[in-house]
Amino acid sequence: MDNKLMLMIPGPTPVPEQVLLAMAKHPIGHRSGEFSKIMAEVTENLKWLHQTQNDVLMLTVSGTGAMEAGIINFLSPGDRVLVGSNGKFGERWVEVCEAYSLNVDPVTAEWGKPLDPEQFREKLEADTEKQIKAVIITHSETSTGVINDLETINRHVKAHGEALIIVDAVTSLGAANVPIDDWGLDVVGSGSQKGYMIPPGLGFVAVSPKAWEAYEKAKLPKYYLDLKPYRKNAAKNTTPFTPPVNLIIGLQAALQMMKAEGLESIFARHLRQMNATREAMKALGLPLFAPDGAGSPAITAVAPTTVDAEQVRSVMKKRFDIVLAGGQDHLKGKIFRIGHLGFVSDRDILTAVGSLEATLIELGHQGFTSGAGVAAAAKVIAKS
Ligand SMILES: *Cc1c(COP(=O)(O)O)cnc(C)c1O
Repeated sequence: MDNKLMLMIPGPTPVPEQVLLAMAKHPIGHRSGEFSKIMAEVTENLKWLHQTQNDVLMLTVSGTGAMEAGIINFLSPGDRVLVGSNGKFGERWVEVCEAYSLNVDPVTAEWGKPLDPEQFREKLEADTEKQIKAVIITHSETSTGVINDLETINRHVKAHGEALIIVDAVTSLGAANVPIDDWGLDVVGSGSQKGYMIPPGLGFVAVSPKAWEAYEKAKLPKYYLDLKPYRKNAAKNTTPFTPPVNLIIGLQAALQMMKAEGLESIFARHLRQMNATREAMKALGLPLFAPDGAGSPAITAVAPTTVDAEQVRSVMKKRFDIVLAGGQDHLKGKIFRIGHLGFVSDRDILTAVGSLEATLIELGHQGFTSGAGVAAAAKVIAKS
């Protein structure tokens, strides 16, 4: 059936009609007064969303570009960096750091498990010479559905005193509490196609005063991703290069929707939908890939043993027009992932779980009572 496709992948995520309509206009000039007004509002609302007074800069890049900018603007070749790596994205930041000749010290955990904050504490405490210049953490590890304990790891970074904390918040910003100023996070990167409810194409980098101090000494090469011109131009409500004007107009509408919903409600909704999804999977006898207490509010990874994960995805798509994500790298075929990020309602979760039940019956998965998944999800959703 046309126009029934439901994206339940961790980006691109569904886009509300208000946003689509806002974007369905002729582009306006990016040096016009009209556009500057939009920039002013968007910049202010981005600070609200990021819970910060720091600069929040907008770049025409995907999330990876935002993170690359967040790394290379503040470091010099040979700088020692601790990089948390417990999934595809953690591995990517290791690769980016290596590409720029940083001295990478990966802090790893098995895929599907959270990073151990103690390992960071030990390395940071041992560094009496203050050679560690940055700690890079993926908050919500989208590839495995694991949320890392950013708050505790950041506390250890603060105790070190010197190192910057650089955070990939691509699937936690707008889904989980990331209080940048309260926690003193230095650099926080995110991307438009995740929690922002707009299409792909914009990257965001929040930068603290301490990070700007590091910028002055940083020697890695940069041009398009040099954040200083973005900062200078943002102060005048403009951008150094041509921005995707329609996307920014969409962002203006999306941020207005977020403000109307309120941060607390947004976080509570994501948590509720994560809990509903996780309880449903348990009731259906489907093993969760991330342990209780470490599940991401953006995405739930499921590792079925009695049915093929790719077959589940295929039936869900063909029969119910619901797109789930698969596993990446060695997890391909082993897991499927249900996105509940951004413009997702409780109804979408009930629909997805009901459709999944029908899919499981079709695939001959045994060991659950028909309706058990929907009942478990409904219980979580009805309670709150
Ligand atoms: C999606 C995502 C990114 C960025 O991916 P792009 O394809 O470059 O937008 C980075 N980190 C995490 C955790 C993500 O989920």
